[in-house]
Amino acid sequence: MSPAVAFIGLGHMGAPMAANLVKAGHRVRGHDLVPEAVDSAARAGVEPAPSAAAAVADADAVITMLPAGRHVLDLYDTLLPAARPGTLFIDCSTIDVADARAAHDRAAAAGMRTLDAPVSGGVVGAEAATLTFMAGGGETAFAEALPLLEAMGKKAVHCGGAGAGQAAKICNNMILGVSMIAVSEAFVLAESLGLSHQALYDVASTASGQCWALSVNCPVPGPVPTSPANRDYRPGFAASLMAKDLGLAANAARAGGVHAELGLRAAELYSAYAERAGATEDFSGIVRTIRDQSGAEG
Ligand code: NAD
Repeated sequence: MSPAVAFIGLGHMGAPMAANLVKAGHRVRGHDLVPEAVDSAARAGVEPAPSAAAAVADADAVITMLPAGRHVLDLYDTLLPAARPGTLFIDCSTIDVADARAAHDRAAAAGMRTLDAPVSGGVVGAEAATLTFMAGGGETAFAEALPLLEAMGKKAVHCGGAGAGQAAKICNNMILGVSMIAVSEAFVLAESLGLSHQALYDVASTASGQCWALSVNCPVPGPVPTSPANRDYRPGFAASLMAKDLGLAANAARAGGVHAELGLRAAELYSAYAERAGATEDFSGIVRTIRDQSGAEG
């Protein structure tokens, strides 16, 4: 029989993920602080629970999809005493590596099995069940979680022990944030040198400058018709989420004494940019800030 799943946090990501578990034949009890989020998940077949504790009481697995580490740790104080010992706790939120490890420790002390399993793929991936999961925790916990992760995504990578999933996520997104700034600066430099966007793209996308930020999410309109630049930078991957992930990477770099000059600078630039652009703009829109600050014309 499919495990009964409790799903806490039915927001932009959690609601479609829970719906995909229902579609895969799981019994899912859901909870969110926002009643409208619960109502909307209920329309997709998620059974509403009156509280988070009630949702986990008879669950075999508990999935959390919450904004930040403090939400996860606060909620674990409520969930751990309410769940049956041995329940599998899977946190899919993107949170600090240190918070993820603290969550693992608390859950293990309460006799639970745990996995940190943040995702990439965004709301589109959550809806289409094409997310990639990066998991940290024990081999057995990963093996048991796999059927659930496969119902919500297309790929799940076991990255190592507690916190390794969060570590993989922020390292990847540090590469992405730094490379998007580098690609954007190169396009603005090209503009000032009289080099067309298409010419730079044609060369760099088949040369050593090739990267995802250029060849998939190209920050200028034209060369890659599907990139957010062609729809006035509607996300895609919102600037606010990139700022959040780079902030987590910067915290981890500072805590580990890592001399990540570009990563720390990218976190500052995205934090300033996201204060203005927030969730309404794709992170590639940072090219416009670079252009404005250069006094250049696009
Ligand atoms: P969201 O704000 O839409 O959803 C979070 C939900 O958690 C909200 O509905 C909120 O009411 C609920 N919540 C908060 N505290 C709660 C509590 N104590 N009990 C019950 N519910 C509670 O956020 P989202 O976009 O769904 O993102 C969730 C996580 O996924 C974040 O950590 C984010 O960084 C990560 N993520 C998001 C995306 C994306 O594209 N949105 C992509 C990858 C990863």
